[in-house]
Order: sequence, then structure tokens, then C-alpha cells
Amino acid sequence: MSEDITYKKVNVYETDADVEQISELGDKYIEFLNKCKTERACVRYFVEKAEKNGYKALDFKSPLKPGDKFYAVNRSKSVFLGIMGNDPEKDGIHYCVAHIDSPRLDLKPQPLCEDSGLALLKTHYYGGIKKYQWTALPLQMEGTVVTRDGKTIDLSDNDYTFCVTDLLPHLASEQSAKTVSKAIEGEDLKILCGSVCADTEESDKVKYNVLKILNKRYGITERDLISAEISFVPKLTASSVGFDNSLIGAYGHDDRICAWTAFEALMNAKPSGRTVIVALVDKEETGSDGVTGMQSAFFDMVADKVCENCNRHIANYNSKCLSADVNAAFDPIYPSVLDKQNASILGCGPTITKYTGARGKSGTSDASAETMAYFANLFDKNKVVWQSGLLGKVDAGGGGTVAKYIANRNIDTVDIGVGLLSMHAPYEIASKADVYETVRAFRVFMED
Ligand code: MN
Ligand code: MN
Repeated sequence: MSEDITYKKVNVYETDADVEQISELGDKYIEFLNKCKTERACVRYFVEKAEKNGYKALDFKSPLKPGDKFYAVNRSKSVFLGIMGNDPEKDGIHYCVAHIDSPRLDLKPQPLCEDSGLALLKTHYYGGIKKYQWTALPLQMEGTVVTRDGKTIDLSDNDYTFCVTDLLPHLASEQSAKTVSKAIEGEDLKILCGSVCADTEESDKVKYNVLKILNKRYGITERDLISAEISFVPKLTASSVGFDNSLIGAYGHDDRICAWTAFEALMNAKPSGRTVIVALVDKEETGSDGVTGMQSAFFDMVADKVCENCNRHIANYNSKCLSADVNAAFDPIYPSVLDKQNASILGCGPTITKYTGARGKSGTSDASAETMAYFANLFDKNKVVWQSGLLGKVDAGGGGTVAKYIANRNIDTVDIGVGLLSMHAPYEIASKADVYETVRAFRVFMED
């Protein structure tokens, strides 16, 4: 009897899960991470794979038939993929949502400057970062420029390496006495990008030489940098971590780990006749605002299309959503910020999070008992290893997710996610076992 009345988390490796399959799937995910370090790269990757699996670009002018596999790209930076069902109004829609933007350093519109023989690029960081983690770290350039003459040029270029310099410890006594958040100022995250003087009458000879290189290689001018999106991301290779290779170290697990697992599940799912939509969106790290964020009416544009022959308000009411975003896994080195009993434990499967928010659940959609029960029972019935977890101690801080923007549309929504160590660091850690069980969790929801 006692076994039934207590609840314990289960480690995936304590079950009869196939260790080889876990490792294979982990390697497939690593391959994706090494190709896709920006939202644009993710969209290109997902569209290419989806097309190979029979998905077609959504034509907003012609009707969708049950069984149609479609995708809709929003401005190259977010993508909705779905399988049309029989009756979206009666059956509702099963949504899985994740984000594909990650913290990084973005260039200012007029970034290039020169000081003391060095060319530097001014940045404004994107998302929540610990600024000291971004110094003395190899960086790569990712970006898109639309030139004065209307050409779109891809600046993603792995041939070059960059970095932000840091102060030597011998001279850092003043810096070391500062708090971590003040030790490196935002304005000081300037990227080192050159040191050769050009043969020119211009006063800034090193800057001019960098502009000459940019012009030769990409055909762009300093003016073109104003109409550009240029980001610098860690130039680190995603790889297996540990003697047992059970973990994955990479830049951008948040939230590509949920985007990729949802996508992988969709590509293999055989829905029961219900409509399924996977929404992979941009701008979560800056608040989900803007045309490509979760708050954009692009969501309504796609949902209206799917519901064009029915009442979408009723469809929403009958719909459910897994809002997928990473969670803070319990780290034994930093135990004080988490309530261990309610924390995500690495290797125990995806974490269902009833509510997010901070200090009095502020800003959370807080899933109902009924919604929690639906998912918990669905996963149990299908032997998915899952766990319950919250982001941090009650007053320790906390973070929001896109869940509320979907829930506000009158769709029952619960947060689910993969636990990470070092979340938002240039190199984050996830568990291959969790990747495996998260794909399974999405898939059983899509097929329910
Ligand atoms: Mn996230
Ligand atoms: Mn994040």
C-alpha cells in the first residue's frame, strides 16, 4: 500500500528506458545546436526538415483539409507548424509553444569605433545575462543586413572569431571589490574586431581597415550597418559532457531544447484527428513583444485560418497548450535558491510547472487542478518519465514564460520544460535523458 500513497521522482536511468536511443537522440539534438544559434537559423532548419516530411507553406487563401501538414513563417524569425484536424471547434487544438531566441550581444546601429589602435564594436546585450560571463569568451558573428540598394546579405560567418576583453587579475583589485553585476558595465561589452591600420588619410585607420574588409567580403558600408541585425554568440561547440556522456553542454539550450523536442515530436506524431500546432517564436528573452514574439497577432492569423469554418472562440475554449521553456535544475553547488522538494532534478524527465512568476506568483497564468491532472495522467498513462518543479524559492526571484499570453486567449495552458544547469550562461547544461522524455511527452500530447 505504501508505494501508492507516496510520490517520488524517478530518474530515467532507473527505468527500462533504452540508453542507446537516449544517446542517439542526444547526438541528433547536438547536431541541430551546432547549426542553429539564432532564431533565423532555427526557422530555416525547421522549414527545411518539415518540407522533407511533407509540410507545405500555409496558403492563407485556400482551405485546409483534415490531415494537411502546414507551416507558416513569420518574418524569417518565428514559425508555426501544424497538422489540420477534423473539427477544431469541438476537439480544440493541441498547442506546443517554445521560443527560439537566446541571450546574446547585439550590435548598436552605429557600432564600429576605434580607440588606441584597436577596432571595437559597441553592443547592447539581448536578454538577461551575467555580463562577466561574456568577457574572454570566443564569439562568432550571426546577422542579416539589408543594404541601401535592397539586397539582403547573410553575415553569419564562422571564419572569424571575436571577443570582449577582460582586465588582468593583477590590476583588478578595484574591479574585484565591485558586486558581480557592476564589475562589467553594459557599455563595456565592446567586441574586439581589428588592429591593422589602413593606408588612408582618414583619422581612424584601424576602423577604416575593418570597413574595407566588410566592404570587400560582404559588399556593405558603414551606413548599411544601421539597417542590420547583427548578433554575437558564443563560438562554442555543443558536445556531450561527462565521463558517461550523459549531459549536453551548449549555447542556447534556452529554449531551443524545447523547440527542437517539440519539432522532433511533431515530425513523428500521428495525431488522432485533432488539430496540432507547434509555435516556435522569437523575442521571449525580451518580453515576447513585437511582431515576431508570442504576443504578436500572428498567432491569431494562423489560428483564424485553422478555424475559418468554425467558431474560434469555442475552439480556444476547448484547446490545450504545453508552453515549453527551460527550468532551473537543482544545482548542489547553489542549493539555497531552490526548494529542493519542488525543484527540477536533472535526469527525471520534463518538468511540469504549475505556476511561474515571482513574489506572490505575480505575472503567472497558474494552471488549474483540472489542467494539471490532464497532463499528469496523460504522461503516467503513457509511461513518460516526468516531474513537478518550480523555478525558485518563493521570494528568490523567478521568471516568466510565454504561458500567460496563450492562457489569456482562453486556452488551458501549463508550463513544461527541461531542467538546465547554468541557465542563460554562454554554455548551459542539459540531460540527454530529459531530451528523450520531453520528445515523448510532446508526442503523447499531440496524439491524444
Ligand atoms: Mn526561455
Ligand atoms: Mn531565458
